[in-house]
Amino acid sequence: IYNFSAGPAVLPESVLRTAQSEMFDYNGTGFSVMTMSHRSDVFMSILYHAEQDLRQLMDIPDNYKVLFLQGGASAQFNQVVMNFANGFKRVDSVVTGNWSEIAHSQMGKLSDAEIHLAADGKQYHYQNLPPVSSWDISPDSAFVHFVINETVHGLQYREVPKLPEGMPPLICDMSSEILSRRVNVSDFGVIYAGAQKNIGPSGATIVIIREDLLERCSDRIPDVWNYKSHVQRDGMYNTPATYPIYISGLVFRWLQSQGGVAQMETINTLKAKTLYDAIDSSGGFYINNVHPGARSKMNVIFRTGDTRLDELFAQESTTRGLRLLRGYKSMGGMRASIYNAMPLQGVEALIEFMKEFQKRYG
Ligand code: PLP
Repeated sequence: IYNFSAGPAVLPESVLRTAQSEMFDYNGTGFSVMTMSHRSDVFMSILYHAEQDLRQLMDIPDNYKVLFLQGGASAQFNQVVMNFANGFKRVDSVVTGNWSEIAHSQMGKLSDAEIHLAADGKQYHYQNLPPVSSWDISPDSAFVHFVINETVHGLQYREVPKLPEGMPPLICDMSSEILSRRVNVSDFGVIYAGAQKNIGPSGATIVIIREDLLERCSDRIPDVWNYKSHVQRDGMYNTPATYPIYISGLVFRWLQSQGGVAQMETINTLKAKTLYDAIDSSGGFYINNVHPGARSKMNVIFRTGDTRLDELFAQESTTRGLRLLRGYKSMGGMRASIYNAMPLQGVEALIEFMKEFQKRYG
């Protein structure tokens, strides 16, 4: 079975096997991690090592704090505004697809700052991305928010955005591509990501924050939403999502054993190229309208142009062990999410099925 879900998504089999073998007795403790106090030495050690391994994998500089929060990436849409827009008149928001559109619509709800539409990918029908040089941003804004990989529209900034000197901090929703390629963390003020795509189960949200920004977190923000309170209590302000953090830690170790992010980047590039080549060489039977320079290496969308055939594709592929290929509800068609834990063989199996399906119905 190959699982192409956009999230919660496939996890490395070896991680699930380790979790299974440790389910009733973690490391000789006689307990499952699920039933342990978050303040126990054992869990504190799990959390510590998860953070250290993530720091190693992403080469996170010392002046960045790492938190494992709850609430998903969606909570971050508001939390970044609550914490960092205090005293600012404007927030710059780049809209490039489904998720940044939602972020844009939510960000102003608990803030008086203007949520300024700095770029609108709608002009490209969400089939291409506004170049960073075209973003209408101001040095006086609290920050610039964007989504680096649009999970639904299958778009990705192939070149990692970087703002010129003197511009406000860049806040990046990296949910559907974190750890899939090398990024320079110091180009960002904040990186956040829900774990359930490229890292682990849902429930943990990774937030990487440049330390100086914490000075903006006012005491008036309730502690549970206040990044500073979480940092001051070493990520233990309240009960963190202990089990998802434990699984995430196993995934980090798996990534290290695979050669780290650089190696993932190489494999992910090959997987995406192989799949896009198959779509482009189908003589128009399979269509992907995303501009080649903006095609996501994580979420590959395609359709046949006939909704009945798309539905048939979704049904038949399922019976062949290729699961969850149906496109996002508002998009239709198909979507193959090919995160880190999807092996090249999974992509090859999908392509084989695509060719056979085309032979029968093309
Ligand atoms: N941002 C991106 C890029 C996503 O893909 C998703 C979920 O699919 C979200 C945000 C929302 O994440 P959550 O469900 O964790 O709030």
